[in-house]
Amino acid sequence: MDAPLFMAKTDKRMKSKLTNNMENKYQFLPFRFERFNDSEYFLSNEVGEFEFLSKNDFDLFVSEKLETNSNTFLNLKSKQFLTDPQNIETVTNMLATKYRTKKSILNDFTSLHMVVPTLRCNSDCIYCQVSKKDLCDKGFDMSKTTAKNVVKTIFESPSPVIKIEFQGGEPLTNFEMVQYIMEEAEWQNLFKKKCLEFVICTNLSLITPKTLKYLKKHKCYISTSLDGYRDLHNTNRPLQDTKHTHECFEEKLKLTREYLGEDSVSALMTTTCYSLGHFKEIVDEYMRLGFNSVFFRSLNPYGFAKRDKHKIAYSVSDFIENYKEGLMYIIDLNLQGKFFVEGYAELLLKRILTPFATGFVDLQSPAGVGISGVIYDYNGNVYVSDEARMMASVNNQHFKMGNVNENSYQEMFNGEFLHNVIANACTECLPACVECAYQPFCGADPVRNFSEQGDIVGYRPTSEMCKKNKSVIKFLLELIKQNDPKINNIFWSWITKQSIC
Ligand code: SF4
Repeated sequence: MDAPLFMAKTDKRMKSKLTNNMENKYQFLPFRFERFNDSEYFLSNEVGEFEFLSKNDFDLFVSEKLETNSNTFLNLKSKQFLTDPQNIETVTNMLATKYRTKKSILNDFTSLHMVVPTLRCNSDCIYCQVSKKDLCDKGFDMSKTTAKNVVKTIFESPSPVIKIEFQGGEPLTNFEMVQYIMEEAEWQNLFKKKCLEFVICTNLSLITPKTLKYLKKHKCYISTSLDGYRDLHNTNRPLQDTKHTHECFEEKLKLTREYLGEDSVSALMTTTCYSLGHFKEIVDEYMRLGFNSVFFRSLNPYGFAKRDKHKIAYSVSDFIENYKEGLMYIIDLNLQGKFFVEGYAELLLKRILTPFATGFVDLQSPAGVGISGVIYDYNGNVYVSDEARMMASVNNQHFKMGNVNENSYQEMFNGEFLHNVIANACTECLPACVECAYQPFCGADPVRNFSEQGDIVGYRPTSEMCKKNKSVIKFLLELIKQNDPKINNIFWSWITKQSIC
């Protein structure tokens, strides 16, 4: 595969120079750029190499006046922003190899398969994005026939790794079905011999020693939700049958770790308006409860969260301000010798600082919808992502791929619908993203575009997702640019998951 050869933000004069400069001392390679601050430019290329240039150096570079023995020239050459004209083919091949490495997440196709055994739930989260049903509601549990067809469909995926993640509602309200699916998958895997993993997303409240023994036997990981200290968690995620949600969480977390081990549970937080101004206390609570990471996650505009936006939402600027404050607090904790990671920064730093591929369904290009992750609803409907299922719960079936009881794997995963969604979800060719210097680190989300702006392509100047990603990436780049060895060490410790303390 050839690296895409195009230049963004070039005027006609520059374009003609670029194509006719074989006799000149260097040849430009594809790159994007933007003014980073009053005195510097930020440049990036298709494979994620980046460089900061002073305005003067940038002018020299684009007018082909850089001295070939200058540090700037050598830096830009080593990062494939320019090359000697006679080496163009070799360097293009090298870029193509790097590009393939960055995109290697696409090799295996769908590995994350989320399954909803029930839509019933014993929580009353104020932002419930799946529009859950009450415990006594009937008709929202998965049937055995559907479950069998779900597992059959999952094992048609060519991916050598299959992760089955149970979502809800609260999956433990239908634990029999969770067990049925796990055992059916293990049976199928005797023949398919894939690397099979299980994760259950649960509020922990219904966990018992018997459940934990079963989960241990079947090597199932636990993903839970913790929104922060007691009052905040109780406000955001109250259980239906007790006022002591947080105490219950803490007690069940302890029990789970006793049976499955200290590192068996990971937690996610969701930011509501009640969380703003409290990111430090949220981090403190995560640390008090023995977690070594947090993922500052903003509210997504789906389900009850969209319906009740006026009560619990906030502006993207408020989130970014809180995010920066929280991240600096975490960096300070690391400087004091306490290893603690912020998950969103960790993901972006991997993209910025390493040549490797990083799959993250919500932020990759092409978008991960359907091709990296997919969700099977309780009734057998298949959606391109959890967020697409959330949209469906309020009667918007735009991203339904089919139903396991009616459609074949090929119809759903190789049909015109998914091809069309993915073709419109590559940042490399989306309006505005195509020119964006932060593009190599960002990703596309057609479902979010549709929910926020009414079409899958979206409009970046008013996109909240774009604003958030751009701001966070720029903030991380500002920290990297400071070249502070202590902060750099912390970032590398996050990437390598090894404490430097
Ligand atoms: S979404 Fe925004 S930040 Fe991301 S690549 Fe597109 S324009 Fe850049």
